[in-house]
Amino acid sequence: MSDHEPSTPSAATPPGAPSATDAPVSVSLPAPASRRPRRGELNFAAPRAGKPPQHLADLDSAGRKSAVEALGHKGFRAKQLSTHYFEHLTESPEEMTDLPKAIRDELVAALLPPLLTPVRTLTADKGTTIKSVYRLHDGALVESVLMRYPRRVTICISSQAGCGMNCPFCATGQEGLTRNMSTAEMVEQVVLAARSLRRGDVAGGAEGSPLRVSNVVFMGMGEALANYSSAIAAIHRMIDPAPEGLGMSARGITLSTVGLVPAMDKLAGEGIPLTLALSLHAPDDKLRNELVPINTRWSVDEAIDAAYRYFEATGRRVSIEYALIRGMNDQGWRADLLGTKLNARGRGWVHVNPIPLNPTPGSKWTASEPGVEREFVRRLRGLGVPTTVRDTRGSDIDGACGQLAAATA
Ligand code: SAH
Repeated sequence: MSDHEPSTPSAATPPGAPSATDAPVSVSLPAPASRRPRRGELNFAAPRAGKPPQHLADLDSAGRKSAVEALGHKGFRAKQLSTHYFEHLTESPEEMTDLPKAIRDELVAALLPPLLTPVRTLTADKGTTIKSVYRLHDGALVESVLMRYPRRVTICISSQAGCGMNCPFCATGQEGLTRNMSTAEMVEQVVLAARSLRRGDVAGGAEGSPLRVSNVVFMGMGEALANYSSAIAAIHRMIDPAPEGLGMSARGITLSTVGLVPAMDKLAGEGIPLTLALSLHAPDDKLRNELVPINTRWSVDEAIDAAYRYFEATGRRVSIEYALIRGMNDQGWRADLLGTKLNARGRGWVHVNPIPLNPTPGSKWTASEPGVEREFVRRLRGLGVPTTVRDTRGSDIDGACGQLAAATA
């Protein structure tokens, strides 16, 4: 996985041997079958699966109160449960001593059911990067990646089991879409990360840096905007002040999309100042049709226009993601074309994040040569477009961009 941190030679960590910290637990349920997509095939309609159990984090505060009352309990119990879940990160029901024992078990069973069962945990980058593989209630496997930096902690979360967008260089895209995740399944990834951080399971961090998850990136499995309402509700749970939610800053949340233009416009109208990242990967339709098949529906110019409208509506600078693939999209003229197209909309509204391609199983593509990457960056900067190569965390545990796939579990 990755984050928005410029890579500097001094920050480079020699790839340590990846280690499985937890013995793999046998997976008793088969993952629901998702057919491998044909080349260029897109899939928006998530197969219907049994709904995940309802969880407190699926509901807003009014919904939580009604759910508690429907069980015959006083409404204020909802706030007590929310305080445990979002504010105190309480792990065990025994610690919820403000809830009478007689009703605690019932409330916990009804509103705090287990959603994500850890299957295994892999660490890299000297223990500062942790990939977790989870099994959902129906056997589907998803992953999240926790990355600790000196002064912030980023969790990269999944929004779907698999993905229907079928980008050929992305491991998840090759798996196809299994199903949408629920709001609580998204939020729970953040809560589990926050608990492990608090337990001291994550190495790194500067002295005195707070033990909080400060950033969430929707860059794990899935296309969050294809699971729109659940993703928006999850974002609300993250930013709502405690005990309603986790009380995070919206500015610390980044949602990455292949460029679903109507959903980008809808997001711009939500009034939430999160960062939008657009996976462009090519400035011309001919190549982007191949690399990001959604381009056959919304072209490069339409996607960039929508990104610009997002900036206009929110004032948030948009990120353009550009995986640099050797000999495919890394030519100088493509850097010039990208810079020209971005500048044509305006200045100061965008920055570019080139990402060295992470290898995925069965793919013939590799990352661009370092010199080619430098030249690509130099040309963009020369055109006045802020550009930072993204630091690639977790590549040795298949936790980097595009390497997350259920098959790795
Ligand atoms: N569906 C969202 C989130 C995907 S993952 C989206 O497409 O934006 C986040 C980023 O990683 C995307 O920009 C994606 O294109 C990129 N990515 C996927 N596979 C990659 C790979 N093998 N190497 C580098 N980046 C990759």
